[in-house]
Amino acid sequence: MSETREFKTESKRLLDLMINSIYTNKEIFIRELISNASDAIDKYHYMSLTDDKLPKKNDYEINLSYDSKKRTFTIKDNGIGMTYDELVNSLGTIAKSGSLEFMEHLKEEQGKKKDKNDVDVDIIGQFGVGFYSAFMVAKKVEVVTRSLYDEKAYKFTSSGEDTYTIDEVEKEDSGTEITLYLRKNSDDYDYDKFLDEWTIKSLVKQYSDYIRYPIKMEVTKSVKKEGTEDEYEDKKEIETLNAMTPIWKKNKNDVTDEEYNNFYMQKYYDYKEPLFHLLLNIEGKVNYTALLYVPSVAPYNLYSEKYEKGLQLYSKGVFIMDKCKELVPDYLRFVKGLVDSSDLSLNISRELLQKSKELKDIADNVEKKIVNKLENLMKNDFDTYLKFFEVFGINLKFGVYDEFGANKDLLKDLIIYHTTNQEKMISLKEYVEAMPKDQKVIYYASAKNKEQVLAMPQMDLIKKHNYDVLILPDDVDEFLIQILREYDGHKFQSVNQGDLDLLDKDEEEKVKELNTQKKPLLDAMKEALKDEVSDVVISKRLTDSAVCLVSTDGVSFEMEKVLNQMPNANGDVKAGRILELNPNHELFKAIEDVYLKEPQEIANLADLLYNQALLVEGFPIKNPVEFSKKMCDLIIKASK
Ligand code: ADP
Ligand code: MG
Repeated sequence: MSETREFKTESKRLLDLMINSIYTNKEIFIRELISNASDAIDKYHYMSLTDDKLPKKNDYEINLSYDSKKRTFTIKDNGIGMTYDELVNSLGTIAKSGSLEFMEHLKEEQGKKKDKNDVDVDIIGQFGVGFYSAFMVAKKVEVVTRSLYDEKAYKFTSSGEDTYTIDEVEKEDSGTEITLYLRKNSDDYDYDKFLDEWTIKSLVKQYSDYIRYPIKMEVTKSVKKEGTEDEYEDKKEIETLNAMTPIWKKNKNDVTDEEYNNFYMQKYYDYKEPLFHLLLNIEGKVNYTALLYVPSVAPYNLYSEKYEKGLQLYSKGVFIMDKCKELVPDYLRFVKGLVDSSDLSLNISRELLQKSKELKDIADNVEKKIVNKLENLMKNDFDTYLKFFEVFGINLKFGVYDEFGANKDLLKDLIIYHTTNQEKMISLKEYVEAMPKDQKVIYYASAKNKEQVLAMPQMDLIKKHNYDVLILPDDVDEFLIQILREYDGHKFQSVNQGDLDLLDKDEEEKVKELNTQKKPLLDAMKEALKDEVSDVVISKRLTDSAVCLVSTDGVSFEMEKVLNQMPNANGDVKAGRILELNPNHELFKAIEDVYLKEPQEIANLADLLYNQALLVEGFPIKNPVEFSKKMCDLIIKASK
């Protein structure tokens, strides 16, 4: 049998990209092919442990060889192999994780660019480019494979153009052998280096040292000639090129940070070193090792639905699954790494495994350890914590708010904010500790920065008291505050919501009096704005500014904005509004004057003031055309 088939369209595109070598780092094909070979052995091993009928093996290996005359490079494994269908589906189509994701992101990136061929090379480093990377260095690739479940073996041949052929061939055992016919050397690239023992050895060391199966190659060794003192001869010898012990099983002291970081970058396709890692060796109810990483940049799709959180799961060194989502809570979705436990049974189904008590124990512990590590960082290495918080802090905020606050006590001390009075970001604990005795509540304002908060009219009196104010930059913040309700016995108080309670008895009394005295004016304004505000009052918080808008208790202005922006919102969330006037401001006297002389004008003035206050709060004005007209009338009148 011999059959010629066409590659699927995206595969063609990827092939094209590979061949035209957008990716300068061609040598990573070795890493990709070895990683596939290792996956295939993992699968064999996993099956043989769960299925008694399968032959057991203890000679797993990945074999590398090269032929300088034919200019071929060959990698062979005795893993699970591929059936005919698998061959077509895996190599004839981009159906697989790494390549597919790579392709999708590439499309996205190209959509943004004018020149369709202009691809940002940097992003490519983030992905596992997979099998097709072989075409970066090979003009022809042959894959001979036999599945564990098939008596027949097949040979896939392609030169990376539109088609590939599949022939039936003979092969004794299950496994795969991939032969690369290297491209001609050119001025641009030395393909011959993949025919060089030393280069291959060092590439394997660099990229695949941690692979758990031996990667073997015949090497030439210079040994003393028998019976001589100082005569040497070359001898061929099979050598295992990789260290094999998985890095997480090695003694902490024998591994450098650089090695941990390299492992991370290769395994999780990051082009940047992680911010930090955490190695856990737990002996207890459940025994396990976990190697966890917090990246220094957020994965490009962290907040998209397609992002899959989770840790890799191993049982006694046998790979079980890639993204076990039960192992990390949503708010730690950015954590990468793996868990290897000797207490997880391989013989139960994945579904049952995912529900097992052992897994739950590990997950709880992993969560706690990461939180501990973050607390430690905050205490002992605040600069690193800041970097962390900048990138992932918002996840922790969601963590506080999520599940009706189930984790709020665990996480609340990890949240930090900028404040109006301090240079550095501080925690709620630090805020409360620095509060003067007479300050009862924790003040906050939703804003992007300090300047914005300090410019708020509602801040007048708070500034006079020199109270510090938390600056809440994210949509989730006010919801988080609402879930927390209080910290250490101190309630949270928005600077533009409800009553500020900053006056002494006499001052309170005075405001009360004024409210009675000026009732007719206030009522007239309230009547004019009756569809918009629930009240117009003499302010207890303004000292310098003329007017401001505050919300009644319940939904705040910020929440109104956030909730109305939600995908399913119909814009009907509305915070209760109160218009506050500063009785000591010249403007107030002016309004009083108008009210005395031309009471019919009060409605227009009230409307203008209200709209201005809306603008200050970052809301659109009700009716811009009408507002503009009223403004013009006012100016014309003033000129007369
Ligand atoms: P990924 O490894 O991310 O799935 P690749 O492009 O590297 O993507 O590989 C595609 C698929 O081809 C693999 O998922 C696997 O099913 C199959 N494959 C590749 N190499 C081998 C191999 N040596 N043995 C068995 N299957 C393989
Ligand atoms: Mg792969």
